[in-house]
Amino acid sequence: MHETQLPSMPMLGRTVVALNTYDVVIIGGGVGGLTLSVKLAQANLKVLVVEREKQPGKIYKGELLQPKSLQGFQLMGISQEVLSESFSLPKIHTYEMNKNKNGELEEALYIPLDYLRLPAPFAEARMIPHETLKKILLDKAKEFSGFHYWNPATFHSFSEIDEQNNEFKRAKVKYEKKEIDIEAKFFVGAEGRASIIRKAMGEVVTTTKYNHQFLTVTFPRPSDFTEARMYATHEDFIGLFPLPNNKIRSVMLIKPGDYKLMKNEGLETFYDSITKFEPSLKGYVQEIKSWKEIQLMIPIRHNIKQYVKGNAVILGDAAHSVHPMAGEGMNLAIQDGMVLGELLDWMFSNDNTDPKHLRYYEKVRKNRSDRISRLSHLSAMAYTWNFRWYQKLRMFGLKRLERNPILHYKHMLNISGIGWWPYTVLDGLRFLGPRWAYSKKTFARKKNNVIFQNKHDHPWK
Ligand SMILES: Cc1cc2nc3c(=O)[nH]c(=O)nc-3n(C[C@H](O)[C@H](O)[C@H](O)COP(=O)(O)OP(=O)(O)OC[C@H]3O[C@@H](n4cnc5c(N)ncnc54)[C@H](O)[C@@H]3O)c2cc1C
Repeated sequence: MHETQLPSMPMLGRTVVALNTYDVVIIGGGVGGLTLSVKLAQANLKVLVVEREKQPGKIYKGELLQPKSLQGFQLMGISQEVLSESFSLPKIHTYEMNKNKNGELEEALYIPLDYLRLPAPFAEARMIPHETLKKILLDKAKEFSGFHYWNPATFHSFSEIDEQNNEFKRAKVKYEKKEIDIEAKFFVGAEGRASIIRKAMGEVVTTTKYNHQFLTVTFPRPSDFTEARMYATHEDFIGLFPLPNNKIRSVMLIKPGDYKLMKNEGLETFYDSITKFEPSLKGYVQEIKSWKEIQLMIPIRHNIKQYVKGNAVILGDAAHSVHPMAGEGMNLAIQDGMVLGELLDWMFSNDNTDPKHLRYYEKVRKNRSDRISRLSHLSAMAYTWNFRWYQKLRMFGLKRLERNPILHYKHMLNISGIGWWPYTVLDGLRFLGPRWAYSKKTFARKKNNVIFQNKHDHPWK
C-alpha cells in the first residue's frame, strides 16, 4: 500500500493542496465503482472513490439482481445484507394480451420465464432498491482503512498524461471547494454513460437509439402481490417488479411524445395504464401524487472497442450502456467490478502491476457484455413495433422459447450471467421443430458444462 502526502504549495496562481497517491482511483461511486472498491479494500489496497452526486442518489436505476451478481456478493461477504434487503423473484410471469377496438383486454398467452430451471443456488433473481444496494457496498468498503470516499467530489480531467507510454499520471478532482491533484497506479472510469475517462482514452462510441422511451416509478403494492409480471399488447408494455417493504417498481413503454401528452391529461392516465392490466393495484398506484415522482428514461445502447488504455480502464455504463428491457445494465456493472477487483488484487499481491495485465479484464468482460448487450437489444426489438402481426410473431417466439427445455434453459442461463450457451443453427430447428425435438442426453451433459468456472472468470490465475 503506497502513501505519499506532500505539503500545500502555490503553483501558477492556484493552490495545489497535498498530492494524494493511491493504488487505484475510481471515478464514480455507482454500483460498478462501489463493487470494485469493496474488492480492492478487501485486498488491503489504498483506493479512492470520487463521487459527484450527494448521496443517496435520487434517480431510478437498475434494481434487478441476476444470479451471477448474487453469487459474487456471496464471495464478497455481503450476501446476508443483500438477501435481507431484497425480494426473491424465481419467475417472471409474462402475459400477452389481446386488445380489442374498445380497449378491452383478454389474456392471449401466458409464459413464465423461470429461474427455477437453473441449478441451485442460481434459481432466482432478486429486486433491491438501487440506493440500498449502494449503501450496503459503501458500508462494507468503509470497514477497511485503505478505503477513501470523496463525496461530493468531481473529476474534471487528467492534469498529466505521458502520451508516449500511455500512462495517465495525475487527475484533477474538485473536493471541498479545492482542486486536488491525485496520483494513482490505476485510474478506473466508472462514471456512467458520459464517462470522461473513456473520452480521455480516445474511445469512439457506437450508439444505438430506440423508437420508444420508458416511464418508471416505485409505489406501494398489496402485500400479496409477490410475483414479477410483464404485460404486453400489440401497443403496450408494462413490467411490475415487487420490491421489499410492500413496494413495487413499474416500467412502462411509451412512444416519444407520449410523456408530454400524458402529463397534459393528468395522472389518471398513468394510473389507468397500470390498473387496466393489474386491477389489484387500484388504490396503490394512486399513492403517486405528482408527475415529478415518475421518471422518464430514454434507452440507449453504447458499444466501444476497448475497455483499457495503458493504466486507465473503464467499467459499467462507461464501457457499455445496454437497453434496460432485460434488466442487465446494473448487473454488467457489478460483474465488471468483481472481475476487475479480482485481477487488480492478483496484480498487486504478485507485485506485478504491469498495466498489460488489464487486458485479462477486457478479455473476460467485453465478450460477455457484448453478448448481453445483443440479447438486451433483441429483447427491446421484440417490443419495438406496435402492429398486431408483430405481437403475433412475438407470441410465437415466446411460445417456442418456453416449450423447448433447451431453449428455455439457454435463455435463462444466458440472462442470469452464470454461464453462456451459444445459440447455434440447431436452435433454429429446436425453435421450429416439434416439442420433443431435443436430446435429453445432450441436455443433461451440456447444461452444467456451460456454467462459468473460476478458470473462465479469472483466467490469469
Ligand atoms: C435513468 C436510468 C434508469 C435506469 N433504469 C434501469 C433499469 O430499470 N434496469 C436496469 O437493469 N438498468 C437500468 N439502468 C441502468 C443501470 O442502472 C446502470 O447500468 C447501472 O447503474 C450502471 O452502473 P455504473 O456504476 O456503471 O454507473 P452509474 O450507476 O451511472 O454510476 C456512475 C456514477 O458516477 C458518478 N459520476 C459521473 N461523472 C462523474 C465525475 N466526473 N466525477 C465524479 N463522479 C461522477 C455519477 O454521479 C454516478 O453516481 C438505468 C440507468 C439510468 C441512467
